[in-house]
Amino acid sequence: MRLRAKTRRAARHVLDLGLPPMCPTCREPVADQGGLCARCWSKLSFITRPYCERLGIPFAYDPGPGVLSMEAIADPPAYTRARAAVRYDETARTMVQAFKYSDRIDLAPAMGRWMALAGRELLAEADALIPVPLHWRRLWSRRFNQAAALAKTISRLSNVPVAYGALARVRATRQQVGLTQAERATNVQGAFRVPDTSRAELRGKRLVLVDDVLTSGATLDVCSRILLRAGARKRRCPGVCEGCPAAS
Ligand SMILES: [Zn+2]
Repeated sequence: MRLRAKTRRAARHVLDLGLPPMCPTCREPVADQGGLCARCWSKLSFITRPYCERLGIPFAYDPGPGVLSMEAIADPPAYTRARAAVRYDETARTMVQAFKYSDRIDLAPAMGRWMALAGRELLAEADALIPVPLHWRRLWSRRFNQAAALAKTISRLSNVPVAYGALARVRATRQQVGLTQAERATNVQGAFRVPDTSRAELRGKRLVLVDDVLTSGATLDVCSRILLRAGARKRRCPGVCEGCPAAS
């Protein structure tokens, strides 16, 4: 498999020499490396308010200020707030897959910029960014951690430092794709750990986890629990949400 990835990479380098940069979703030539073509860009669905203040899930209609989604009330995650830049529809999925599996690391600056904008309220209060780590074996075959690449751009734009290595993936997990919500939670259980050498660095800090995709939130939930247990600061809800579980 590694050999196949290498061949693909080599093929891409050959293509890079002779062809203009390509749109990662429709493969049409684009003027600059690192972006979508105008048509695919217009198909992306950027998430704006109204959304659940807790989970960042967009609402179809505006329920009024401070109203949380049913999911946030029924099954509140360990993290206080989540924000996502775009809906994970077909265009976004194709783009993320090109980014992760086809060596399109040149997409990180654009994606990181959207994320920095979507998460600006969280970043304004953050002490450090924590990219969701890859298991070393996956990092080896993919060559880069996509979450760390995004965190790097977000850090540059927000001036919040990245705490590389503050969270480690100690167990390789199956891909979360195709698993039910319960299976996703079980899959990532015990997969992460805060190294002893990072505990002092995290104590009392307000952290923002960075990942490329947020679906069930199972990975981020597990990571949050571990970081909180290691002494990271739990942010209290500003109190705008009626019956918000994070307020107490
Ligand atoms: Zn396109």
